[in-house]
Amino acid sequence: MLTILRRIVLEFSQASELDQALMHLVSQVKEALATQCCSVYLADHQKQHFLLMASNGLAQDAFGRTSIGFTEGLVGLVGQREEPINIANAQQHPDFIHAPEVQEDHFQAFLGTPIIHQRKVLGILTVQQEHARVFTENEEAFLVTLSAQLANALVNVEAQGLLEYHGKQSFDNAVDRTFAEFSQMSEKLKKIISDSSLDIFDVYKQLLGSDNFKVEVIAKIKQGWNAESALKLIVDSYVVKFEALDDEYLRERAYDIKDLGNRLLNNIQNLAEHDQQLPEKFILVAEDVSAAMLAEHQHLGLLGIVSLTGSNNSHTAILAKALNIPAIMGVEYLAIRQLHQKHAILDGYAYQLYVTPGEALISEYHYILAAEHQLQAQVKEVEHLPALTKDGHSMSLLVNAGLSSGFEYSQNVGAEGVGLYRTEIPFMNRSCFPSELEQTALYRQVLESFSGKPVTMRTLDVGGDKSLPYFPIIEANPFLGWRGIRITLDHPEIFLVQIRAMLRANYGLGNLAIMLPMISSITEVDEAIRLINQAYYELSSELSSHEREALVRPKIGVMIEVPSVIFQLEDLADKVDFFSVGSNDLTQYLLAVDRNNSRVASLYDFYHPAVLRALQYIAQISHKRNVPLSICGELANEATGALLLMAMGYKKLSMSAHSIAKVKWVIRHVEYQKLQQILTKVLSLKNTVSVHSYMHEQLVELGLGDFVHAR
Ligand code: PEP
Ligand code: MG
Repeated sequence: MLTILRRIVLEFSQASELDQALMHLVSQVKEALATQCCSVYLADHQKQHFLLMASNGLAQDAFGRTSIGFTEGLVGLVGQREEPINIANAQQHPDFIHAPEVQEDHFQAFLGTPIIHQRKVLGILTVQQEHARVFTENEEAFLVTLSAQLANALVNVEAQGLLEYHGKQSFDNAVDRTFAEFSQMSEKLKKIISDSSLDIFDVYKQLLGSDNFKVEVIAKIKQGWNAESALKLIVDSYVVKFEALDDEYLRERAYDIKDLGNRLLNNIQNLAEHDQQLPEKFILVAEDVSAAMLAEHQHLGLLGIVSLTGSNNSHTAILAKALNIPAIMGVEYLAIRQLHQKHAILDGYAYQLYVTPGEALISEYHYILAAEHQLQAQVKEVEHLPALTKDGHSMSLLVNAGLSSGFEYSQNVGAEGVGLYRTEIPFMNRSCFPSELEQTALYRQVLESFSGKPVTMRTLDVGGDKSLPYFPIIEANPFLGWRGIRITLDHPEIFLVQIRAMLRANYGLGNLAIMLPMISSITEVDEAIRLINQAYYELSSELSSHEREALVRPKIGVMIEVPSVIFQLEDLADKVDFFSVGSNDLTQYLLAVDRNNSRVASLYDFYHPAVLRALQYIAQISHKRNVPLSICGELANEATGALLLMAMGYKKLSMSAHSIAKVKWVIRHVEYQKLQQILTKVLSLKNTVSVHSYMHEQLVELGLGDFVHAR
């Protein structure tokens, strides 16, 4: 059964036209279930009805014409209940409606299953039979499984099928460019890493050079698919084939193929982009908007981003926030090219994109924008005042930095220093690792700009959703894999160069602190400190005695973002100078919710009682052990988060430069005493919804209702 299922889904997603694909599908299902009729209805959410798209068994004249309201008939009932309906005699069911044009009077048995993607009903698949009987459990299971798998394929076919773009040329160019990139990368990396690590490039080049692969993609393009879709179809079909192989080595090549597909896709999209003149102001819409793309476009009039992949907690979204650029992440139902050159309104709060908006909507948004600007102007008044509550409790506010642009801005927002400098960002927009000298110059610039104020630099934190184009990491579970300190400890040559550059940049300034990301065990801390000491002693032995005086040992801290270390805080307290909570990853790992996966984005919530209790516990232990504590995750950017953290005893919040004034304003309008009461209540609540609604209520009561959603 599984083989038949796979074949049906594969053939469906590979078909060149939606109508044909659906016709082929219903025939295959009819045959597989040895029944007399199979039909597929697709949902039109605007018209609130299901349209009969294809059938093998119903009257052909009705295809594309017969529609059934969302609340009508058995098909409507399947959609409403979002579950299969399996009945022996459909015509006796109270919801049955007679539609003579489909000619189904002779059928009695009915089985319908919804096709649902991310809680949205995309359509209904039905089978019918003359003989009155209930379909068997196996038959029902088959149809349910097929519908679930079809949902993904249908989203793709639906969106991609609308596109008209003949991309043979762009595919050829992308192949050439990707090939050249691989050659350059492996040349450069030869100097840095071992030969065996470079084998991966040979695998890529072989695949890229394979005639079969190119011929198949071009055949799809000739059928009318655009280059991106054609590539996706062929890559997916290769992945399925490789994943089904017995040989483990060959099975693992499926990852290489996926990665190669992504690189080609990037190049097709980038080449297409470079071919056109960017308008003065624009919203960037792409399958996967990466942090590097953001960095590349930020100066060019970029007003907003829409990404088909990722979620609100992806690094791209966090960087967008740092740049004050609204973002919508993880929108799967978007025919990108249909948006080309269209006017649109992007509402990053409501998560809405309005394409070609009408006059009324435009003037409503002008009004909303004006209100937003007014709020910003209001909070800006306190930008350079201390973050002090009405009853005299102070909080230290710092900025998160890392993108070179926006950096000058960060210096002037009333922050007391840099709480998190993400060093990986400057590593991204390049074609090889920066040298020690380049890094020294870069870090020096940051330390100098904040001279006299603390700057916490985090060592390279790549992996997860942050990749370097010249250092490929291919993994099934990247957030649980080779990431952050795990990579740098495996590559001391990269780590030592970075530490040396930081120490050199700090000569005569002394405001550097070093922070280690993704620490999950004490051994990693010991190892990292050993390497930092090594870099320090090596540097010191290279210096003259006069210079040596300027070399300072920086404070060393760890990020608290992997849950295991929460239970080793006491041990860590003996080893390091400070803790900084990474609430973004801490939330991801505590709740087992991939921060980059839009499908589970609604489960990712800083205000989950478990996350709040963990944060409170970290504050208690740090206080008990006298370890300076800060937080640099996105929670600190939010008015609600900042207030709760303050009540827990956090003394330093590090956030995007654009949030400083807002958080100051909020802190200056509350009493610490009151925050304590609020926190006690919040920590007694059992679920996320109650926390949100209670905090909403409290903010409104405190006169801070405008800040519930404000960034
Ligand atoms: C965090 O995890 O909260 C954090 C600040 O680091 P990043 O978002 O860069 O992983
Ligand atoms: Mg993190």
